[in-house]
Amino acid sequence: MGSQLDELLSANQRFAETFDKGDLPMPPARHLAVLTCMDARLYPEKFLGLQIGDAHVIRNAGGRASDDAIRSLIISSRLLTTNEFVVIHHTDCGMLTFSNDDLRKKLAEETEADASGIDFLPFADLEESVHQDVRRIREFELIDPTIPVSGFIYDVKDGRLLPVEPPAARAA
Ligand code: ZN
Repeated sequence: MGSQLDELLSANQRFAETFDKGDLPMPPARHLAVLTCMDARLYPEKFLGLQIGDAHVIRNAGGRASDDAIRSLIISSRLLTTNEFVVIHHTDCGMLTFSNDDLRKKLAEETEADASGIDFLPFADLEESVHQDVRRIREFELIDPTIPVSGFIYDVKDGRLLPVEPPAARAA
């Protein structure tokens, strides 16, 4: 298996030659944090019209409100001024294709390690996963209850966002 490092580094060289955004402030200009999936077909900056410096885009497998995503949202809002969160899951997500038991079994076959204690946060129902994650963020006690959190499903076939959860804040 060859590494693509040479290609990546020459692309970076070309990028840096014309790079002129070195003076942006650290807090996102649009005070927005987006939580979405790592899926390679999702280009959230493009499908949301975001520019460099505009928003925090937190990505993981599924766009789940995992402990680590929550950690990022706390830092994003408490230290870096974001005041609106958007959760975006998507059609044809890899997380719909396996269960914790499936993956744990595969890992047991392929490694010596024990993955029985890890919840990989797969889901069987896309809308329900959005509801769950929006709810977890809203109800998390270290998250400011006045921050509106909305939820969407992105359609990988047509590029559209389907609203699933309106941007309500937690009842204070
Ligand atoms: Zn996905």
